[in-house]
Amino acid sequence: MHKKLSTPSLRRLRDMMPRYSINYHQALRVAERQASRLARTWEAEHRAIREADISSLTRMTILRRPCPGTSITDCPSGVSRYEQGRWIVWLNPSETTSRQRFTLAHELKHIIDNGAAHTTVYKQLTPPEIEAVCDHFATNLLMSRHAVYHLWGDGLRTPESLAMAFHISVNAMRRRMTALGLPTDLDEPSVLDYTDAFPATPAPDTLPGHFFTEPPNTTFPGVAA
Ligand SMILES: [Zn+2]
Repeated sequence: MHKKLSTPSLRRLRDMMPRYSINYHQALRVAERQASRLARTWEAEHRAIREADISSLTRMTILRRPCPGTSITDCPSGVSRYEQGRWIVWLNPSETTSRQRFTLAHELKHIIDNGAAHTTVYKQLTPPEIEAVCDHFATNLLMSRHAVYHLWGDGLRTPESLAMAFHISVNAMRRRMTALGLPTDLDEPSVLDYTDAFPATPAPDTLPGHFFTEPPNTTFPGVAA
């Protein structure tokens, strides 16, 4: 019998972090555990994770405009900052919807880490490694191992069909499938109409064609960390 998990609080997610200094690989594993926990809570095997899911975890305002001190031509993908009792997350509005969603998930990891004594825990990590940990979290949240295998088992076996289900670009889905050891070249029809179960996104850019190159996802030192 499937038992619905309750959404963990931010504190609970922070408690999943060790209290001691960890290395890069340990940090990746913690990030994956936190993301998987959220993905299971939000039943990512049945629906794409929404922006509202992410913003429900804490008081959060999402602004699609350049963060203070930058312009549309030089603003980073995302910045988060705690101000007057709430998190403000700036997302670069010139990037695709799917990229902005990935950036929001990345920023969520910064927010979780912010309350987890990260200066001690991440002492061994370089800033690019911390960014990579946040990317790893975002990947595991939006395309969790459990959910990808689940949908694969249900017959979604092409990057295109899985990308549609997860509201992710085909290129990103292909990379994820490869990382999870799934073939990406099966010439197999996906289950017809299956993806109708997933609500359409307002923007069509989660589908083939353009997508993001791998981050670095720039953040301002001391601001988003
Ligand atoms: Zn970052």
